[in-house]
Formats: sequence, structure tokens, C-alpha cells
Amino acid sequence: MNKSLWISSSEGNKYRVLDEDKRVECLIVGGGIVGITTAYLLCKEGYKPVVVDADYIGYGATGRNTGKITPQNGIKYSDIYKRYGAENAKKYYEANNEALKLIEKIIDENKIDCDYERAPAYIYAENKSDSKKVLKEFDICKEIGINCEFIMDIPLPIESYGAIKFNVGAQFNPKKYIDYLARKVEELGGEIYEKAPMKSIDKYKDIITVHSLGGYEIKTDKLIIASHYPFYDGLSFYFARLRPERSYVVAGEYNGEFPQATFINASTPKRSLRIYNDGERRLLLVAGESHKVAHKEDEDHYGALEEYGKEKFGVEKYQYRWSTQDYITSDNVPYIGYLNSVTKNILVATGFGKWGMSNGTVAGIILSQLYINGKSKYLSTFTPSRSEGYLTGEFLKENTDVGIQYIMGKVKIASKDMPDRDKGKIVSIDKSKFGVYRDAEDIFHIVDTTCTHMGCELKWNPLEKSWDCPCHGSRFGIDGEILEGPATVPLKQYGSETYNEINPNLI
Ligand SMILES: Cc1cc2nc3c(=O)[nH]c(=O)nc-3n(C[C@H](O)[C@H](O)[C@H](O)COP(=O)(O)OP(=O)(O)OC[C@H]3O[C@@H](n4cnc5c(N)ncnc54)[C@H](O)[C@@H]3O)c2cc1C
Repeated sequence: MNKSLWISSSEGNKYRVLDEDKRVECLIVGGGIVGITTAYLLCKEGYKPVVVDADYIGYGATGRNTGKITPQNGIKYSDIYKRYGAENAKKYYEANNEALKLIEKIIDENKIDCDYERAPAYIYAENKSDSKKVLKEFDICKEIGINCEFIMDIPLPIESYGAIKFNVGAQFNPKKYIDYLARKVEELGGEIYEKAPMKSIDKYKDIITVHSLGGYEIKTDKLIIASHYPFYDGLSFYFARLRPERSYVVAGEYNGEFPQATFINASTPKRSLRIYNDGERRLLLVAGESHKVAHKEDEDHYGALEEYGKEKFGVEKYQYRWSTQDYITSDNVPYIGYLNSVTKNILVATGFGKWGMSNGTVAGIILSQLYINGKSKYLSTFTPSRSEGYLTGEFLKENTDVGIQYIMGKVKIASKDMPDRDKGKIVSIDKSKFGVYRDAEDIFHIVDTTCTHMGCELKWNPLEKSWDCPCHGSRFGIDGEILEGPATVPLKQYGSETYNEINPNLI
């Protein structure tokens, strides 16, 4: 039953497979909201970008979130204000507001059927100790000119200790939106390829050659990395500046009262709420339970969300459960712009901190502007080359954890026994460690579990039945196929003549 409501509701289109080498002007790697929005905006200006995706369009985080579009991004503005000042906090708001307006305009102009509706966004303190930070956030929001108000009670059966209502915001079905936009990209002359994972890149003079896992190469003048986690680092140290966090969503039919608005608490555990009406059913979505990838997968996250929905709204049955991950930057502001300060022909967008519908559209705006004329008024706020600010406590904590995870994985003693049916674990076979999943039919799936990104040892994820990396968040299926980056090389299966190929794509 782990399936995304959005992916189940929109089948998408079928695109070409990559079966030849290509020479293009603009290659976009990744067909989520970043890649497809950027491609659409470029096509509208007469360019003909080529988009390649490792999987199907919109099957990444874009097809697995809660579909809120809002500049209300949790406790955000007081954080940016403190670190980078009022001007940058204001720019962040303006960029996200422009993104919201752009999405609405695209939907209106094209009459896209994606269940879009305007919905103010509330953030509420669910306990007394969080009320101070909500109040502080409100003061900053007011100072930088955000259209919002402070209220004590929220229009839900949840006790609030103070809340901010952002008067602008919206909600939609992100998969229906992205499927339409992708179709439009091809109508306007762009090209899309699916099941085309990119493995590495070479640079010679001004030409970039991108190599696919399938053995084809695409030569391009400009490369836009929209692969969620950048599949190529270019010595920019994204691996040290991004924290991979998973979270969970459940959806169950609900016909009780709920205003046309979205909600998130400012407390721990995180809870995010909205209603989705597909014309036939009204579903309550409850999201939350964030944790670093491969750190708390053995807990009952879906159960906790369902319990919350039951306690607050009386919803007992849930038709959908899904999870996905997003990346958090060290300073809580996404990285959007040139890959680094010296590379002008590679652009990147990542680190949306679970607010990639609006920020992914901000990325589309900035990246298309940089591609076309090398300028964007938002670049200084989002540039990945910002030096101040990211050497934070979070940065140090995160990288200490990576070191600990690396060492712990190497010294951990593997089991001598095979797992039970439908279970996975690390087992010692022929004096080496392997990841073994024994399926319900008693077939063993055995892989080398050293992550092909940077060599950390993978952990079994019982909820998703996958092998996940506790260092940078790569995930692999039971037979070693890549589910999520930054890894670009699959795991080797037991019986292979060599061990896994490690490819950090640093240079
Ligand atoms: C539980 C949860 C709920 C969320 N809810 C919201 C919300 O309500 N509102 C909001 O604004 N944000 C939300 N987010 C965040 C949002 O979903 C993401 O920030 C956003 O979808 C990221 O978009 P993207 O285009 O960068 O990535 P993706 O949608 O993941 O697209 C990246 C694409 O790149 C492809 N790819 C990866 N590597 C390669 C490679 N090597 N070669 C070729 N292709 C590759 C992948 O297959 C994928 O299709 C949520 C996140 C989570 C975890």
C-alpha cells in the first residue's frame, strides 16, 4: 500500500529512451519540478532544451510531496534575517511569491486540470514553548512586508499557542501539473528522454560530455543539474553541505470540516496538513516524521501520522502511504545558480528543505534567466557560492555524523545467519559483508552494500525495502538498482567478480 496519491492519479506520458549519442546546446538532467519548469521557461523563449531523467518524469520528490505552494516555509524568515539580513529575507519571500504567481499564471493560461486552488498557509505553535519562535517569526515577517497576520486559534480542532496566517498560498496535484508542463515542453520543441540515468561528466574546452549509465554520451554547451541531489559535484562540496531527510505522508478519506487552507506546526514532531479534493473524494493528508536518511527507518512513522489524523479528525482508514526525501542546506536557503564561482556553463538547483514546489519554481526562474542573459535579481540570495553562513553548527554536526556513520559501518560485525522471509540484513558470506534480502517467496537478493557514492556502508530500510546510505542519502533497490542519488553507479550483486565501483563525481 506504499503508493503516492499523486503518482496513482496521473499516469503521465511516455517519452523516448536514449539509444544514441547526441550533441545539444542545453542539457537538463532531471525531470522533476526544477528540470521541467526550467525547460518550459526556456522553450517559451524559443530554446530547445533536452531533458533526461533516470526514471519517469515526475516520479521523484515532485510526485511524492504534499502539493502545497506557499512562501510560508516553516520557521524561515527569522532564520534568514539573523544570518543574512532583512534584504535577503525579503528577496527570499519575493522569489517564492513570484513562483506562486507564475504557477498560477501557467495553470490559468494553459487551463491545466491539476486541482489547483488558492489556500492561505498557517504555521502554528502546538505547545507553549514554541509560541515564542512563532511570535518572533511574525515580527520579522511583518518587518519585511509579508502579507500575514498573527492569530491565537487556528480553524482546526487542534490547540494552538499562537499562529501566523500567510494570506497568499495555494495547493494542487503536483504530478498532474508536471505531466502537463512536460507535454508542453515537447510541443514547444524541447526533447525528453526517460529511463536515462547519467553517470559522469568530462569537460574539454567549453564542451561538456555527459555519459549515461547505458553507455551513450551527450555533448552539450550548457548543463543544468536538476537531479534533486547534484549528480556531479565539481569540487563544490555539495556532499558536505546537504543533509538528506526523509519524511512520510498518509492520506485517508475525510468528510468533516476543514477550511480551504494548508497547515504546518512549528513543533516537534512535525505535522503538516491539507485536504485534497479530486472531484470524487475528499482526502485528509497528514505529513511529517522527518529524520535523516538511514537513521530511524525502524520506527512506525506511518502509524504515528495515522494516529495523529485519528486523534484530531477521527480518520481511521488511510488509502495511501508514501515517503520521500529532500535535502536541507547548512543555512536553510536553497542553492540555485552556477555550480561554483568558476564554472559558468553548469547550473544547479538543490536543497529545497521540503519546500521545492515554490523554491523549485524559483529555480526554474533563476536558471532560465541565467541561461538566457546571465543575470537574475535573486542570484545573490540563492547562489551556491555564498561563503558566509554555511559553516554553521548544523554543518559541523552533519559532517561529524557522516564521519561516525562511515566508521561505524566499517567496524560493525555482520550477522552469520540469513534473515527471515521478507527481511533484510547485513550478513557475513565468504568472509565479506553483503546485504541480504530474503523475499516472501524465499528468494535471496544479495548485494555488495558499500555505497557507490563515497564508500559508506548501507543500512536496510524495512519500510521501503531498500538499502539506504546514512552518509549522503543514496538509496538502492534489493537488486542494487539506484533509487535516489547522489550515487550514479548501481550495487554489484553477489557473485560478481569485483566489488562496487565507487564514483563520487567530485572532479
Ligand atoms: C514528505 C515531503 C513533503 C513535501 N511537501 C512539499 C510541499 O507540500 N510543498 C513544497 O513546496 N515542497 C514539498 N516537498 C519538497 C519537494 O517535494 C521537493 O523539494 C521537490 O520536489 C524537489 O524537486 P526536484 O525537481 O529538485 O527533484 P525531483 O522531483 O526528485 O526530480 C529530480 C529528478 O532527477 C532524476 N535524476 C536523479 N539523478 C539522475 C541522474 N543521475 N541522471 C538522470 N536523472 C536523474 C530523478 O529521477 C528525478 O526524477 C516535500 C518533501 C517531502 C520529503
